[in-house]
Amino acid sequence: MSRIGVLAVQGAFREHIDVLTDLGAECFEIRKTADLEKGADALVIPGGESTVMGKLTRDLGILPVMGEMVRSGTPVMGTCAGLILLAEEVEGGDVHLGTLPVAVRRNAYGRQLGSFSAEGEFAGVGRVPLEFIRAPMITRVGEGVDVLCELDGVPVAVRYGNQLAMSFHPELTGDLRVHRYFLDMVR
Ligand code: GLN
Repeated sequence: MSRIGVLAVQGAFREHIDVLTDLGAECFEIRKTADLEKGADALVIPGGESTVMGKLTRDLGILPVMGEMVRSGTPVMGTCAGLILLAEEVEGGDVHLGTLPVAVRRNAYGRQLGSFSAEGEFAGVGRVPLEFIRAPMITRVGEGVDVLCELDGVPVAVRYGNQLAMSFHPELTGDLRVHRYFLDMVR
């Protein structure tokens, strides 16, 4: 059984834990650096507020340890603010982990369109519901990054080796297939 450490300093971590638990994974919350010593097979960085999550993980000393884990191959899934934390370039904002060769623009889907639902074809998974909440837009994809899902020609889910990241919130739709895809990466 995979043991998944879910960053739980802020944001929608509970929903990820519920979905992953439903899929048979064992989850634990990461709130301090000692939690990272519990032996995570994989990490999840949820949606929330990237500036707050970035500051808290930096102040708590979690950020550099997570960065080391991701760079050394631990599978990670970042959703929405989690994508921002992973991105190597944040237009007009701070870079946090910087392990994923993409550029993102925060809150880029517009004020009125801040939250909306759509559907998209997710490579190897099929058509999935896409739930956007003041989502970051992926504005550049670096070499070696696979685009797994697009909406109107814009990448909304990418994979770079052990890193899976998306602009939307698969944990809020009741559709478990994106998390199952992630657990397949972990095995
Ligand atoms: N707008 C948030 C940010 O920039 C992300 C929103 C989310 O995670 N749902 O951090």
